[in-house]
Amino acid sequence: MEIIDLHCDVLEKLSRLEDVQFRNDSRLHASLENLQRGNVKVQIFAIFIEPHIPQEQKFTEALRQVEAFQTKVLNEPEMVHITNWKQLNELQDGQIGAVLSLEGCDCIGDDLYKLKLLLDAGVKLVGLTWNYENAVGYGASESPDKGLKPFAKQVIELLNEHDVIIDVAHLNKQGFDDLLPLAKHLIASHCNARALCDHPRNLSDDQIKQLVQHGGRIHVVFYPPFVKKSKEVTTIDDLIKHITHIAALVGVERIGFGSDFDGIDLTVEQLTNASEYQNITSALSKTFTQSEIETMASKGFLKYLSEIGIR
Ligand SMILES: [Zn+2]
Repeated sequence: MEIIDLHCDVLEKLSRLEDVQFRNDSRLHASLENLQRGNVKVQIFAIFIEPHIPQEQKFTEALRQVEAFQTKVLNEPEMVHITNWKQLNELQDGQIGAVLSLEGCDCIGDDLYKLKLLLDAGVKLVGLTWNYENAVGYGASESPDKGLKPFAKQVIELLNEHDVIIDVAHLNKQGFDDLLPLAKHLIASHCNARALCDHPRNLSDDQIKQLVQHGGRIHVVFYPPFVKKSKEVTTIDDLIKHITHIAALVGVERIGFGSDFDGIDLTVEQLTNASEYQNITSALSKTFTQSEIETMASKGFLKYLSEIGIR
């Protein structure tokens, strides 16, 4: 079954580690071969800058990751750079769509021009924050009560103007509330249900419902600390509990996957890299119909894009 995955961090590894290649490198979760084996048809590649990198170097780091995307990912003949969402419907057998996203606006500082440059490079989905404060707002590790900053208005206007999807993953609670009425297109690219695992990176039932009321979707994340609190082995069935819970809240049409592969140091059992993707679609068949699983795996996201009519 074809998969659309909304979040991986392989670009950070590809840019930091010069000897790592996208093809045939066992150190990567989301290598080309693993995506092929897992039948991942579309992968969103996040630009993620480690928080310890000094502010004045962050934008250069972002450009280095764009460069890794171009020279290591797009260099492979199977990979097709998606700069217009409509291209997803034109992918041939054997091709994999590659989309750029930005995980937090930290690297732009308070310079909107830097964000424009990243949109020109093909970034189609943008999160306002990572876990910490930046010029736009406050992340999930900060106080939940601090709202978006004045600069957020300019950022959101630019993203709306370019029909870029705004990602609520990593945003704090008040930032989420402030963003919802302002964003044209919304998604949570890698979050689980807080009702089942009380972590600030997860969304409450109320947030999930509000997100969907504003046209958004939630893509579940495969990182064990966001699946369950206990330190025992985390299984695919534990993750499916989140999917079942969210499906009961908002329906399968609004659910997708955002693995976070290559951004995580722990993995769910039997879902340890992208090659094992079909283990979750198989396990879902105990609870959901084939058509429902296809909706969650890829078709719901394609329908979302066609409904909002973005390019
Ligand atoms: Zn993340």
